[in-house]
Amino acid sequence: MKKIKCPFCYGDENKIENTVVFKTKDFKVKPTLGELTEGYLMILPNKHVDAFSFFDKDELTKVRQIIDKLKKIIYEEYGVVPFIYEHGTGSKSNKFPDSITHAHIHIIPHQIKNEKEMLEYLGMEKIDSFYDIEKLKDENYFYYENQKNEMYVKNLYDRKDLRQFFRIQVAKEIGIEDKWQWREHKFFDNIEKTVKKLSKLNKDLD
Ligand SMILES: [Zn+2]
Ligand SMILES: [Zn+2]
Repeated sequence: MKKIKCPFCYGDENKIENTVVFKTKDFKVKPTLGELTEGYLMILPNKHVDAFSFFDKDELTKVRQIIDKLKKIIYEEYGVVPFIYEHGTGSKSNKFPDSITHAHIHIIPHQIKNEKEMLEYLGMEKIDSFYDIEKLKDENYFYYENQKNEMYVKNLYDRKDLRQFFRIQVAKEIGIEDKWQWREHKFFDNIEKTVKKLSKLNKDLD
């Protein structure tokens, strides 16, 4: 099967969607193609890693700090605490050749309306510590974190059909159910607004 060149390692830095709005020494934060809402961000490690579960405790501590800072920034700028999710690719899993496997965490300024129902539907398990994602590195997984910093995981094995679940859920809840597919609906207007607003702030999160 054809292997695609990682768009996060080899992306054109001049494209608006690749604008780094925040950064630390090892991570960058940028908007995303398929920017369903203004303020939608992604955290990416500078080095190519399949999932955040591969990071050690020190690195996860840095990620945790970035998430906490971004939650605060998004709340201040948009009046809503974002929810967080990652679909991680495990070491034993069949890689999805047509999917991006450069680790990235989605940060979406939106509150899931029927969270309890959603968590039950997905069969997500509550975890007490962010460091518990280290245990997931063998399999594909979902990580979800809500406004109250409650954390949940779900082992996805080969459930490729679920990968876009959270984006579909958000699209449904904001009334654009048919526009969740980022390859077709990029929402450049939201990307531009996000970049314009957040680029005024201090880029450096270290
Ligand atoms: Zn990459
Ligand atoms: Zn993603």
